[in-house]
Amino acid sequence: MKLYDNEFTNGEITVNYDPNKCIHAEICAKGLSEVFRTTVIPWIHMDGADSKTIIEQVKKCPSGALSFCYNKELAAVK
Ligand code: SF4
Repeated sequence: MKLYDNEFTNGEITVNYDPNKCIHAEICAKGLSEVFRTTVIPWIHMDGADSKTIIEQVKKCPSGALSFCYNKELAAVK
């Protein structure tokens, strides 16, 4: 599910994408193409893998363009 323009959630975690930081190395798309799809909208498909796998790939983003939080934390700060 897509929240805002660059926020995507599967209900458990939310992945945020900052296009200003992205260096287009495509490590995300090459590492987990079921989720990070460069040619399909929405480009982050949160149902493509489980949360643990998505988190592992987000952590490999070299620019910091991808980040994530658990939705419990999100609910706590709002
Ligand atoms: S891994 Fe990070 S820097 Fe590389 S394309 Fe994906 S979001 Fe952009």
